Amino acid sequence: MERYFGESTPKLGFGLMRLPKLADGSIDIEQTKQMVDMFMEAGLTYFDTAYVYDNGESEKAAKAALVDRYPRESYTLCTKLCAWMGDHSEKAAKQQFYTSLERTGAGYFDYYLLHALQRNNYKLYDEYHIWDFVKEQKAKGLIKYYGFSFHADPELLEELLTDHPDVDFVQLQINYADWENPGVASRRCWEIARKHGKSITIMEPVKGGALADPVSGVQEVLKKADPNASFASWAIRFAASLDGIITVLSGMSNTAQMADNLSYMKAFKPLDENERNVIRRAQAVLNGDDSIPCTGCHYCTGGCPMSIPIPEIFTIKNRQKGNEAFRGRREYTIATTGKGKASDCIECGQCVNACPQQIDVINRLKDCADQFEE
Ligand code: SF4
Ligand code: SF4
Repeated sequence: MERYFGESTPKLGFGLMRLPKLADGSIDIEQTKQMVDMFMEAGLTYFDTAYVYDNGESEKAAKAALVDRYPRESYTLCTKLCAWMGDHSEKAAKQQFYTSLERTGAGYFDYYLLHALQRNNYKLYDEYHIWDFVKEQKAKGLIKYYGFSFHADPELLEELLTDHPDVDFVQLQINYADWENPGVASRRCWEIARKHGKSITIMEPVKGGALADPVSGVQEVLKKADPNASFASWAIRFAASLDGIITVLSGMSNTAQMADNLSYMKAFKPLDENERNVIRRAQAVLNGDDSIPCTGCHYCTGGCPMSIPIPEIFTIKNRQKGNEAFRGRREYTIATTGKGKASDCIECGQCVNACPQQIDVINRLKDCADQFEE
């Protein structure tokens, strides 16, 4: 008997948002098939895609690498409806569900999410009657469990879970770096979801890859504790050790990342007390760090009137070490050639509203302009 819904689900989920790419920019389906095979052979079952990932190519890759090759009952598939992307209309939003069914060929979705609810978009899901729509699909058996993925403050999470007590689960951004981060508030969101009795899928456990290659102070702490454990393993095991977790999504991009993840998640062992103390030490190091907490999700760039490559600029800024100013300027010039520069920002605020990490993009770009532009 499960203590909570999803307790017995294997604790690593395959996120299909950063699939391997070929030189022409298309998804490498053959490598994706190998990754799916490794995942399934390890006894893992949860796959996560979305209508918007790779402009629909992720859902099509799910069909080619998974749905067409494995019995439907042997895996579970999650996808998402994003009311605030594309044509803004009720009809277009609802059509995403039918398009996802067609692209994946899955017949039904085990899990279905209202995608990336934030302060600036969540009312669209009411306006377009999406909550009722997914309940109708659930009644028809086309969705087994539904919920929403969330990128906002704990107060809004409390409001949504109070207004929509029927949701089966929520997807939250949880990682050890954002546990007490006031912008993301992983801990408080996790506590609210559990208070409402909701099970949780976790996204961004490695913070968009940042915790796979953390700042040097964190690397020292983790290597000293276990020289053989990868940095990503600490991050994923931290997330998977929390109570109420259905699974932890990892957006793997090649077979090597899959092999590393499987090495510690195939037979998952929760963090023990000593290991939790190691994470506390890493968190203390991060509290003194001034990196920009950008995950590279690109939600900010589509609507930027100046075509500024915001996440690429932030990556260069975060990578910049004290004595490598020349290299930073060179990378910055390459990243901004043919696009907007940080100093081109007209402060329209679109990116700030779109950013799930609540980054003060405008002022951070000013810092980057000061640092990288002549
Ligand atoms: S505030 Fe600046 S960076 Fe952000 S969307 Fe507007 S122009 Fe682009
Ligand atoms: S600045 Fe925010 S919205 Fe833009 S890529 Fe980074 S995390 Fe995503």
